Amino acid sequence: MLKKTKWLIKEAKLRAGYMVYKDCIFCKIAGGEIKSDFLANTANVVALFDINPVANVHILIVPKKHIESVSTIKLTDGADLVEMFDVADKIAKEKKLSEYRLSFNAGRFQHVAHLHMHLLAGSKIQWGK
Ligand code: AMP
Ligand code: ZN
Repeated sequence: MLKKTKWLIKEAKLRAGYMVYKDCIFCKIAGGEIKSDFLANTANVVALFDINPVANVHILIVPKKHIESVSTIKLTDGADLVEMFDVADKIAKEKKLSEYRLSFNAGRFQHVAHLHMHLLAGSKIQWGK
């Protein structure tokens, strides 16, 4: 099979959420290969505490589908994104957070190449990177 055809099939499967990138830590976490305590685990999204918090409250909201970054989002990812915001809203309400930030990093500010939203709250947010 042509290299380009193989690549196109792989991309199509990834987009459909049938496959995970084998070296992607968030695919492994969302898929249960790496055990984590989830704050939320919905059909298409998981939420967990950030391992290296930069604020009093630092939660990651991660789609189960491997979407690489904000710059590779497709129209077909719309439902996943809505679910991410819905999970963030539910967690904020559960934790009675009246003020918080939802943030996406990109380019050199993004260290894990699997889309994730940071939910940050508290008096000190120290994002020195
Ligand atoms: P970013 O710099 O926007 O790509 O954010 C990646 C975030 O993932 C960082 O805040 C890391 O502390 C966090 N992180 C990396 N590995 C893990 C993990 N195994 N569990 C929880 N958070 C993680
Ligand atoms: Zn991934």
